[in-house]
This record gives sequence, structure tokens and C-alpha cells, in this order.
Amino acid sequence: MLVTVLGFQSPYPGPGGATPGYLVQTDHTTLLLDCGSGVLAKLGELLPIYELDALLLSHFHHDHVADVGVLQYGLMVHLREGDRSPDQPLPIYAPGQPAEKAAGLTYREATRLVPVDEKSQVTVGDVQISFLRTDHGDGDPCYAMRLEAGGKTLVYGADSGPNTMWDPFARQADLFICEGTFLERYKPAEPHGHLTVRQAAQVAESLACRSLLITHLWPAYTEEEVRAEADVYRTGTCHIARFGLQIRL
Ligand SMILES: [Zn+2]
Ligand SMILES: [Zn+2]
Repeated sequence: MLVTVLGFQSPYPGPGGATPGYLVQTDHTTLLLDCGSGVLAKLGELLPIYELDALLLSHFHHDHVADVGVLQYGLMVHLREGDRSPDQPLPIYAPGQPAEKAAGLTYREATRLVPVDEKSQVTVGDVQISFLRTDHGDGDPCYAMRLEAGGKTLVYGADSGPNTMWDPFARQADLFICEGTFLERYKPAEPHGHLTVRQAAQVAESLACRSLLITHLWPAYTEEEVRAEADVYRTGTCHIARFGLQIRL
């Protein structure tokens, strides 16, 4: 399994940047996890958009879905060009709520909504995917995703506050992609659906994750200051998200 960081910033992309999006490739399957602002431009540096087998969306906040509409437009053009078949719309696995936003994921012959929840077991090519609701947002669900292929496990934590029940969902994952929205100096007085960098490192350490990717970062943070606050994670390699970073599991 090869993971490539296409976007990791939040809540908006820095110059030339992108908000969350991660490309996951196996020998047989190409998946995009979240589709934030600027993600399609980054994806296009690696492969044509019509080669995706599926898109998985964690939730409907703008920083995770901003490029979905232009992906749908792009796929319509490629349909006309014969690059994709009209009887095989791109499946978009996403929460069913809010319903009006979920409904917009089915668009002509380009894309098709497949609603998921915590009970869903999805197979795309050689990848098995399950879901965990995280502590995030104001009532509508946000789902972390556990992807298994070739004996390896990737957990994408999406957006999550400190009350997410990670164990056993993320225990001993080969890679845990975990948000670290706040450096300590920006930590809010009350938790509100996000983690600090330090909390992300503590969670990954407590779950004995074999490697960690800290993401969902304010564009002005430096890699050095993020890494300095992640030092409680010692089990394996700690990656700090940057554009084009590739991690092979
Ligand atoms: Zn969010
Ligand atoms: Zn977010």
C-alpha cells in the first residue's frame, strides 16, 4: 500500500497548497480519501482523475469536500472523451447526513453516492474498508476509515476530538493518519472536535501504532515546531504531513 499526501492543510490552503486529500494505491486499486481545496491539482501531478476507483469522504466540512464539484465536472468531460464508461460512475462512499449534501454526490453519470455508517464493510478492489464515528462536528457524522490490503492496515482518522473511541479500531495500525490541528499555544480552553499535535502523538503511542502521520495543520506551522510537540510518540516513525510525502506500507 502506498500513501501519498495530496493535501493536509486546514481550514484553508496556503499558497499553492491544499486541504485534506490522501491518495492510496495498491497493486490493483486507486483510492482518494477526502477531496479538499486544491487536491485535484495535486492529484493531477501523479495520475489522471479518471483513474480513481473510488472516493471516500469522511464528512462534509468544506476543507474535506471543496473539490468534489470540480471532480464531477472533470469526470463528465472524461466520459465524453471515452476515458470512463458511463455505466461505471465513480463511487463516492460518504456519510448519509446531512442528506442534502449527500444527495449531491450523485451527479449524472459521473459519480454515485454510496452511503456508509459504522456498520458498513466496503470492498474496493483488493482493499477492505470499515468505519468509526469520531468526536467531531455539531451532530452530523464524521467517519474515520480503516483500510486493509496485502496484510497492512492504514487508519485515516479524519477530523476527531479527544472523545473518539480509537481502541481497538486503530490499535497497532501500520500507519495512523491523525489530525493535530493545534499546537499547544493555540489549544482551545474547551475541546471542540479537534486534537492538538501532542494529543495525536499520545493517542498513537497508547495504541502502539507502528507509524504516525500528523496532519490537518494550519498552513503557517513549521515542520520543526509540529515535530517538537509530537515527541511522546516513540513506537515508530513519526511523519509530519507535507505535499507529495509518500509512505509505503
Ligand atoms: Zn471537520
Ligand atoms: Zn477538517
